[in-house]
Amino acid sequence: MNNRTFDVDLFVIGAGSGGVRASRMAAAEGASVAVAEGRFLGGTCVNVGCVPKKLFVYGAHYHEDFEDAKGYGWTVEGVSFDWQVLRDNKTREIERLNGVYENLLNHAGVELIIGYAVLIDQHTVEVGDKRYTAERILVASGSKAFVPDFPGSEHAITSDEAFYLEKFPKKVIVVGGGYIAVEFAGIFAGLGADTVLSYRGDLFLRGFDDDVRTSLRDEMLKKQIDLKFNSTISKIEKLQDEQLQVTWQDGTTETVDAVMYATGRLPNTEGLGLKQVGVELAENGAIKVDDNFQTSVSTIYALGDVIDRFQLTPVALAEAMALVGHLYKGQPVVMDYSNIATAVFSQPNIGTVGLTEEQARKQCSHVVIYKSDFRHMKHTLSGRDERVFMKLVVDGDSDRVMGCHMVGSDAGEITQGLAIALKAGATKAIFDQTIGIHPTAAEEFVTMRTPA
Ligand code: NDP
Repeated sequence: MNNRTFDVDLFVIGAGSGGVRASRMAAAEGASVAVAEGRFLGGTCVNVGCVPKKLFVYGAHYHEDFEDAKGYGWTVEGVSFDWQVLRDNKTREIERLNGVYENLLNHAGVELIIGYAVLIDQHTVEVGDKRYTAERILVASGSKAFVPDFPGSEHAITSDEAFYLEKFPKKVIVVGGGYIAVEFAGIFAGLGADTVLSYRGDLFLRGFDDDVRTSLRDEMLKKQIDLKFNSTISKIEKLQDEQLQVTWQDGTTETVDAVMYATGRLPNTEGLGLKQVGVELAENGAIKVDDNFQTSVSTIYALGDVIDRFQLTPVALAEAMALVGHLYKGQPVVMDYSNIATAVFSQPNIGTVGLTEEQARKQCSHVVIYKSDFRHMKHTLSGRDERVFMKLVVDGDSDRVMGCHMVGSDAGEITQGLAIALKAGATKAIFDQTIGIHPTAAEEFVTMRTPA
C-alpha cells in the first residue's frame, strides 16, 4: 500500500494498548507500519496497571479466603505472606506478556523501534539519531501518574513504584479517592499493611453512584482500613531509618513506611514535539482530536489516554479499531462512549454501567430505583460480615434500565453481561422476564421487584 514517498504508511508512537492494536490492525489491512516504544511493550495496562494490579488483588484476597475457609471445616495453620514471591512472580508474568506483545507485532509485520519518538514535522518522526517519514502518524503515548507539588512530595511513590517495592510497608498512606487509590488501599490492607486512605473530599469515588460509594466505604471500614476523608497532607519528611513523617493539614503528624499518591494521571505529551509541529493541546496537556481522532495537523492522529476521554484500556482498543476502520477500510468512525461498563477492583469489587441515580434524575422526569442489600451465601458459613449491594436505575416512562451498579465479589464479572443488556436497550420488564441462575448473587439483578 505504501506509495514509497514515505518510509511507512503509519508511524505509531507508543506500544501500549491503543498503539499496539492500531499497529496490528493497520498492518493486517496491508499498511506498512512502524511503532516506537521507549519504555515497555504493552504500556501502562500490562506493565504498571490493570494486569499487575489484578494479580495483586488476587494475592491480597487470600488473606480473607484463609479466614473464611475455617467455617467450611478447613484448618488453616502457619499462614504467612512473602512479598518478594508475589512481586517477583508478578514481574515474571509481565515479562512473559512483554514477549507476547513483541510476537504479536512481529507476526503482524509491524516494525518495532525501541526508543522515544519526537515529531519533527507533519510527516517525520525522530527516534534517537534516525528519522522516519510516514504518510500518517498516530500518537498513542498514554498517560503518567500525577503527584501534586508540596514540601516533601518527592518522597511519595505512585502506583508505578508500588509494583516494585523493595520492602513491603508495615504502615502506608494511600492518597486519592479514585480507582487506583481504593484498589491499592485494598491491596495493601489485604497483604497485611496498616493502611490509611486519605481523600480530600467528603467521600471517595466522586462520579460513582452515591449508594455504591457509601456501600464500599462501609465494607472498607470493616476491613480496618483507616478512611481519612476531608484530609490533606501538607508535608512529608524523611526520617533517619527510611521512615516518613507525614504532617497533615491540621498539624497532626504520623510516621509511616510509604506514602502512595493516586491523584490522577496526566496525558503523556511532554517532549514529543507536538506544539512545534502545531498539534493543539488542551489545558491539561491532552491532545485535542475531532470525531475521527484527527488532531489539528491533518496527518497526525491520537487516541487512548493521551486524548483523555476515558482512561480505560478497552476504550483505547475500541478507538484503535475505529481509527483503522476509518483510515484503511473506508468505514466511518463510530465510537459510542455511552454505557461503558467499568469495574473498580476494590475489595469488594464495584461493577457499574450506565447512569447513576443522580445523573438519571437530571435526564428523566420519572426515575424508579430498585435496590438490594444482602449477605452473600458464601458468608453464611464463613461468618464474614460482608454485604452485597445491587442497584437498578430505571426510566419510569420508557421502562428502560438506565444504570446497573453493584458492590460485591465478582461485581466486575457480573456487570459485563449487564452492559450488553443496557447496550441492547433492555427494559425492566425484560430483566423481570429473565430467569435467574440459582443460587448466585447475580440472580438478584433479575428478581428485584419492589421499587426503593
Ligand atoms: P482518578 O481520576 O480516578 O482519581 C483521582 C483522585 O485523585 C480523585 O479522587 C481526585 O479527587 C484526587 N485528586 C486529584 N488531584 C488531587 C490533588 N491535587 N490533591 C489531592 N487529591 C487529588 O485517578 P486515578 O489515579 O485513581 O486513576 C487514573 C485513571 O486510570 C482513572 O480515571 C481510570 O480511568 C483509570 N483506571 C481504571 C481502572 C479500572 O478500570 N479498574 C483501575 C485504575 C485506573 P476529586 O475527586 O476530589 O477530584
